[in-house]
Amino acid sequence: MTGKSINSLKLLFLSTPVGQLGSGLGGGVELTLYNIALEMHRRGHHLDIVAPAGSRLDSFPIKEIAGELQITAQTQERDALICMPGNSLLANMWECARQIQGNYDLIVNFAYDWLPFYLTPFFNCPIAHFVSMGSLSDAMDQIVEQVAIQFPGTIGLYTKSQAETFALKSSELNSSWCEVLGSGVDLSLYDFCASPAPQLAWLGRIAPEKALEDAVAAAQIAGIPLKIFGKMQDDAYWKQICQEYPDAPVEYMGFFSTQKLQEQLGKCQAMLMTPRWVEAFGNVAIEALACGVPVIAYRRGGPAEIVQDGKTGFLVEPDSVEGLVNAIKRLDEIDRLECRRQAETEYSLEALGDRMEQWFQTIKQLANPSS
Ligand code: UDP
Repeated sequence: MTGKSINSLKLLFLSTPVGQLGSGLGGGVELTLYNIALEMHRRGHHLDIVAPAGSRLDSFPIKEIAGELQITAQTQERDALICMPGNSLLANMWECARQIQGNYDLIVNFAYDWLPFYLTPFFNCPIAHFVSMGSLSDAMDQIVEQVAIQFPGTIGLYTKSQAETFALKSSELNSSWCEVLGSGVDLSLYDFCASPAPQLAWLGRIAPEKALEDAVAAAQIAGIPLKIFGKMQDDAYWKQICQEYPDAPVEYMGFFSTQKLQEQLGKCQAMLMTPRWVEAFGNVAIEALACGVPVIAYRRGGPAEIVQDGKTGFLVEPDSVEGLVNAIKRLDEIDRLECRRQAETEYSLEALGDRMEQWFQTIKQLANPSS
């Protein structure tokens, strides 16, 4: 469906408060927000985006908010107290949303943070919460559960494996406490590459939960160059890897735009995905597939739901470098066209847009049954 219709929604997106859109600090949720925005706009919905000052998102206008960035949940302990800096950017973003909420049918929250969940009952406008990571803290689990009970249908996640990480205690909730929405990419932005160079790729934030060291070790053992792309989030961690593997055939390329990234990624024989944590989805997996690049990933979390073992990549025993090396040796069994095909059939923007639109409409309907 294109063009405005009577079902056209007025949407207000609230971005992640851990970094500017375009900085890479927010990880995959930056791309997810962009993709949903693109598709909702294409379908004729009205959309405004509230995000940290300095954010850039293609040609979308942004209501830029000043303040101190929020600390990322994955760098804190499970029992960490809820933590906010003075002049909190997150609080300022939600103050902005409070003031303008009357102009919208629905607010969509992309922050993995306690505050927006806590504020939900105080808003008149319904709020859809897109949860971008698995369970990381007790406080977050608790508030997500509370909102799931009080506002059924308003919690959306990427995958089933991600949903299973949340230890929900209430007997009022069953397995359908959240909507599993998956992800998708604008396939027109990713070119299929049939003949790669003899090299591998690793993509993501350079941070301990991504266990880049396993990919470096595998590249060293397999004797094949590894190109590393992504936001340098933890310098000390990267230095430690360089010290541990001084002779590994690896090169840190930097943080690239989607256009440049897909150009480089397509030229690789495979992409290694080595997360130590339960990856909620792994947008990089579907970006690789879109370029025709097979994905070698640990059999855990989102990637295990994406990769078709033996067809569009390989799923190996979690945390096994040997498993990665064995899979690298079997890459000639994969038809790169199958990878692109899987991205086209399962991860198109249209398919993601259908699920999102349905979710948004249902929440709006539940909040205003008479409209
Ligand atoms: N990415 C990028 N440029 C790069 C490397 C990565 O824009 O050079 C993006 C990539 O497109 C993806 C994100 O970084 O959207 C990583 O997201 P993913 O879902 O894989 O993991 P997360 O960071 O959310 O844990």
